Amino acid sequence: MSSQKPLASLSLDADNKWSYLKTHGDPGWEGFPSFLDILVPRVLDFLAQRKLQITFFVVGQDAALEKNHDALSAIAAEGHEIGNHSFSHEPWLHLYDREKIEDEIREAEEHIARVAGQRPVGFRGPGFSFSDATLEVLQKRGYLYDASTFPTYLGPLSRLYYFLNSHLNADELERRRSLFGSFRDGFRPLKPYRWGGKGGLLEIPVTTMPIFRIPIHLSYVLYLSTFSTAVAVGYFRTALGLCRSTGVSPSLLLHPLDFLGEDDKVGLDFFPAMKLRADKKLRLVDDVIAAYCEEFQVVSLREHARHVIEVSHGKALEYGSSDPAPTASVSVNAESELEH
Ligand SMILES: [Zn+2]
Repeated sequence: MSSQKPLASLSLDADNKWSYLKTHGDPGWEGFPSFLDILVPRVLDFLAQRKLQITFFVVGQDAALEKNHDALSAIAAEGHEIGNHSFSHEPWLHLYDREKIEDEIREAEEHIARVAGQRPVGFRGPGFSFSDATLEVLQKRGYLYDASTFPTYLGPLSRLYYFLNSHLNADELERRRSLFGSFRDGFRPLKPYRWGGKGGLLEIPVTTMPIFRIPIHLSYVLYLSTFSTAVAVGYFRTALGLCRSTGVSPSLLLHPLDFLGEDDKVGLDFFPAMKLRADKKLRLVDDVIAAYCEEFQVVSLREHARHVIEVSHGKALEYGSSDPAPTASVSVNAESELEH
């Protein structure tokens, strides 16, 4: 029965406490404080209960530290995919030259392979950052897919909100200027495509609500739930309905803070959703994931990518460049694959 459902993927960006502090410009990140010991058993338990195998995008710096090894190897031991989320988790990665980008990707790869026993085949840029150089490096290193694009019109608003209470100086704000993308990112395709046309690296975008291009990832739904749980779940179900009716196989994104609450005392109080208790969050995550599994067969991004490649065999998945201008190729591409 479940095999009749369309495919969808689920991933968790394993951003650690230090990377939130670092991006936000807060002190104390240099010691790489970690909440993986609290987070990982909780998430693994949640996924095991629902028989889900997903993708965890892990930061190389975390894999390099002994204190995180048990948590990270437990993820791999449960059969989840481990993707590469860069070494230093710097959301301005796309501003670096090719050599530095390659160092970031290679170093993360090596540490992840050592701890998890699997070499990553998928990449998600920190803060949804990507560039032509990043895509070239990934392709050269034999990656199966990239999952760094986030086609939403709301990027600039998220940025404003995120930095409203930060302690960043003008230089630091400038470096973060393009975080979360620009308004133009809202024009990027929602369905998977190949960068540069045939033979290019496969891109699996983080799904936003079809047509409206507003976020549907768990952190956003949790944010809505601070106003009304019913509205939040209704919003998510509407998004899934639109995915079904427009033929989008969604790729849903989770974050650590979807599973951690104010009672976990991990800090990070600048996030509005950190005012909620963990059990309240878990109830909402449970509702949302149950709705997701009702409509779709939920797999890792690696499986999602393999499926896209299989069904698109012989068909060109084309989309020219990293320029998100709304050209005709976008609409052609947006309708061209996964229709079956
Ligand atoms: Zn991240």
